[in-house]
Amino acid sequence: MAGRARPLSAGALAAVVAGCAPAPPELDPPAPAPLEAELRFSSPFDGPARLVNYFDHDLPLQFADHNGVQRTFWGEGTVGIDGHSGYDWDLEVGTPLRAVADGKVVALGVEPPFYCPLLDRVVDDQRFVRVRHVGPDGVAFDVVYKHVSSVERAYDEVVRRGDVLARSGQTGCVSGAHLHFEVWRLTDTVSGRPARVDPYGWEGEGPDPWATHPDGAASVWLWAEGAAPPLLREVQRPANVGPGERAPVAIVALRWMGFRDDAHLDNEQVVLEADPRYAPDGYDLGGAVLINDRGERFRFPAGTVLGPGQRLTVVTGRSDDPQPNHLYWERATGAWDNRGDRARLLGPDGSLVYALW
Ligand SMILES: [Zn+2]
Repeated sequence: MAGRARPLSAGALAAVVAGCAPAPPELDPPAPAPLEAELRFSSPFDGPARLVNYFDHDLPLQFADHNGVQRTFWGEGTVGIDGHSGYDWDLEVGTPLRAVADGKVVALGVEPPFYCPLLDRVVDDQRFVRVRHVGPDGVAFDVVYKHVSSVERAYDEVVRRGDVLARSGQTGCVSGAHLHFEVWRLTDTVSGRPARVDPYGWEGEGPDPWATHPDGAASVWLWAEGAAPPLLREVQRPANVGPGERAPVAIVALRWMGFRDDAHLDNEQVVLEADPRYAPDGYDLGGAVLINDRGERFRFPAGTVLGPGQRLTVVTGRSDDPQPNHLYWERATGAWDNRGDRARLLGPDGSLVYALW
């Protein structure tokens, strides 16, 4: 179930960074590490982008992990590349990629050739830039941007938060244009060597499998307030493209959000479209229902009529500023789980009109 994510407590973060905190003054009680003084990241790109892969806490060993699940930072299993070691966001080629904090370019260029299982061949053109960020407490992280089309900074160059470092691309082991964003923790890792970590931290029940792995490290929330890129996942499918499909109204997109659904319910959306080929006079949705895999239903109010070709969006949450052609389920919890669910539309008589997949 979605929406279990909660902020990491100050105590938990203090425990993670305790090795680096200065010794408290004599006789003073030990104070937790001041959160405000920690390194905080801004977004590596402007605006929202569709998320393709999470960091897999169990385990981020890409192409070597085959346990069949991508374990998100709130502990839930989801679909994606097993062992994914960072975050993938769909970005058009050429999108500016920005420094997430003040830092220094410590590596850039093209990675050595390696075998890419995705493409079943050796790739020799995977371009990247790596920037080092050191917090005031000495905790240090490297941030790596992969698959970029160009790097716009030089080796050893000092960069400021928000500076454009590179342009996104689709170089190397990719099936489409996206940013692979990877964070390495350089201090307080299990082995003492750098280890990849999750910039969204760990908020699952029980221990983080990666925090105690011999090659692992504890992940902490690294984003400045309001700066974390939203984790939008979406599937789109044109109406009636399957064999024999002739539905008058189709579900053409389902966007769900893994991260804090409770606070971002307006980011969960289902988009329906009346297909003019099979609904030349439009379609009356009154009494029809949207249903998820748990059997929860949203019933369309009487008078919900779509003209031919018209789209309608059903938002999981509520809105103080309702948009045209939007309906609001007004739930307080997410409706679409992190495997995407199987959104289905049932007609007023309960028969299946359309299933997204
Ligand atoms: Zn990736």
